[in-house]
Amino acid sequence: MERTYFNPAVETMADDARLAMQLAKLEEQLAYVIERSPFYARKLAGVTPARVRSLADLAALPFTEKSELLASQTAVPPLGEHLAAPVESVIRVHASSGTTGRPSYVAITRRDRDAWSEVVGRVYWCEGVRPADVIIHGFGLSFFVGGLPLKDAIEEIGAMFVPIGVGASERLVTTALDLRATQLTCTPSYTQYLADYCRDKRGVDPRELGFRRVMLGAEPGGGIPAVRERIARDFDAKVTEGLGNADLVPVYAASCDENDGMHFLAPDHLLLEVVDPETGRALPVEDGVSGELVATHLDREAAPLVRFRTRDRVTLSTTPCPCGRTGPRIRCLGRTDDMLIVNGVNVWPSAIRDVVEAFAPETTGAFEVPLSEPPPKVAPPLRLRVEHARGAVDLAALKKRLEGTLHDKLVVRADVVLVPEGTLPRFEMKASYLKREYEER
Ligand SMILES: [Zn+2]
Repeated sequence: MERTYFNPAVETMADDARLAMQLAKLEEQLAYVIERSPFYARKLAGVTPARVRSLADLAALPFTEKSELLASQTAVPPLGEHLAAPVESVIRVHASSGTTGRPSYVAITRRDRDAWSEVVGRVYWCEGVRPADVIIHGFGLSFFVGGLPLKDAIEEIGAMFVPIGVGASERLVTTALDLRATQLTCTPSYTQYLADYCRDKRGVDPRELGFRRVMLGAEPGGGIPAVRERIARDFDAKVTEGLGNADLVPVYAASCDENDGMHFLAPDHLLLEVVDPETGRALPVEDGVSGELVATHLDREAAPLVRFRTRDRVTLSTTPCPCGRTGPRIRCLGRTDDMLIVNGVNVWPSAIRDVVEAFAPETTGAFEVPLSEPPPKVAPPLRLRVEHARGAVDLAALKKRLEGTLHDKLVVRADVVLVPEGTLPRFEMKASYLKREYEER
């Protein structure tokens, strides 16, 4: 009989057993970082790990900000004072580009690599990957945690990993057909680029590529029903998504076929908290709680982090899932950095995308938000450029309906400028909907 779970013991653990395991591992991890990392020896001076016995105790510890990791790396190059393992045990570095554009290096040991393979293995198994599958990998392989760690995990499952990377649509199409690929894993925005490429440049219906599943990651689109439906239609495939973080675990949550939020699949490696993004106050982990995701490593060797602020805005659900996996499911709205505030109302590019996608086939799904001042505050009306499809005729009526729906759904006044199909950029990597049209200071 086929296995349902990659790691049944962890994926179906009862809530109280999970928390007990996490708190035991937390104590060990705190003792480890205080002893091994000069960064945490200073930051957690006076903390006795054995006295951190509950989530409330954890919430009394300070946050770790991404900016602190960059400063630590600058002060003590190359890997920073938060490195907690001897440099000779580091087997690989990955990098994430911070908002400042300077790369931040993430080191892993052999043990960390194995842990990542195990967790990302659970992720892809949850998304339906089995040993007989052929996976086309359409993320960047250089530095990005969506690259080599995904290769390791897919090999761990025993499926066939096909390293295509980005910017190689011609090779992707040829290889998918040659190898009878069964799955595609890439960003939501790339699926749109690829579908257009197939139809316009190759004269191929994207459904002919034969993907049974499309597994999305690296940006929020996969959580949006209209986006998922478009991709499912374009490729005639099931669509699921994953969530990860370069500084934590490459992918630690994924949706199952129920598509009702992403199962948190790394409870033995990360302890999650949800905090109020403005005050930093920890919120109770319960059904419907909404805020910023904060994570603490439980079993990391090279660079464990304590109360790391992810800047991801999430909502958790804790109702049972028919697939039998326990623990919270995560819905990610987007990154705090991408959020706009219009007349005091929070507006996420992912929510705008949801509206714009719902107007397909009159719209292509492509849009951008021109900003004349640095975000997050935007003076109303919220200006948008939206691509209309070639067939769309009554543009004045379309503009009016778009603005009406944006007002109903987002509670903001919008000013939509319709532009012809093909005007706005397509993104092969992460999509960027905010167009900064002001002088950077
Ligand atoms: Zn499920």
